[in-house]
Amino acid sequence: MLKTFDPPLSALAGRSITDVGRHGKFLDMTASGADGDLHLVFHLARAGWLRWREDMPDKPVKPGKSPLAFRFVLDDGTGFDLTEAGTQKRLAVYLVKGVADVPGVATLGPEPLADDFDVDALAAILKGRRTQIKGVLRDQHIIAGIGNAYSDEVLHAAKMSPYKLASSFTPEEVAALHAAIVTTLRDAVDRSAGLAAADLKGEKKTGLRVHGKTSQPCPVCGDTIREVSFADSSLQYCPTCQTGGKPLADRRLSRLLK
Ligand SMILES: [Zn+2]
Repeated sequence: MLKTFDPPLSALAGRSITDVGRHGKFLDMTASGADGDLHLVFHLARAGWLRWREDMPDKPVKPGKSPLAFRFVLDDGTGFDLTEAGTQKRLAVYLVKGVADVPGVATLGPEPLADDFDVDALAAILKGRRTQIKGVLRDQHIIAGIGNAYSDEVLHAAKMSPYKLASSFTPEEVAALHAAIVTTLRDAVDRSAGLAAADLKGEKKTGLRVHGKTSQPCPVCGDTIREVSFADSSLQYCPTCQTGGKPLADRRLSRLLK
């Protein structure tokens, strides 16, 4: 999972953690020392998780099928483990002198909760882009930090089809989408603030209205939430709220039915 080798991880020893921040989906810990700052940056990917521990075991980890990917120990015996379930190993850790040295951070689009991400900024992003809005919202190079789950939530809140073309948005629709992005993300952050790392995943799941809720009733209108599957992901939506009551074409499903 470690994507960098210079500086080595041993360069962290003796430094103090002086700041913790976020860039899109990357977490960034600043480790300060007499010779300047280093940044320990990590991306949990889909199956990765952080587990804070008040009391780190001092025995070495036994090799084997443990999901443990990375262990960070502070001098008071606390620390955290990064774990990754499943066979697809995508969790990534970087130790760098500047966060821009992490390729995924250097190419991030604008932060949607920043003050300058206004309706005009969103309009400029959508203008002339002949791609589906679902893909635009998910693309970290276009807008930072909205993934598969929250793009479903944003589009449900905005009452828009995931297949709607970005270039087709009227000024009113851009404003509605902007409001949906900001309120959806702010609500999620507000609900999660102050929770222990162990409780975050549960909170994310209960807070979602359509994503991962296939076959359940829409909390707004009661219609049944539907799904479209792709090779390695799926999207969920409410036909009544988002697509004029019509189910979206699902190429995989229709191929099976033929
Ligand atoms: Zn609905």
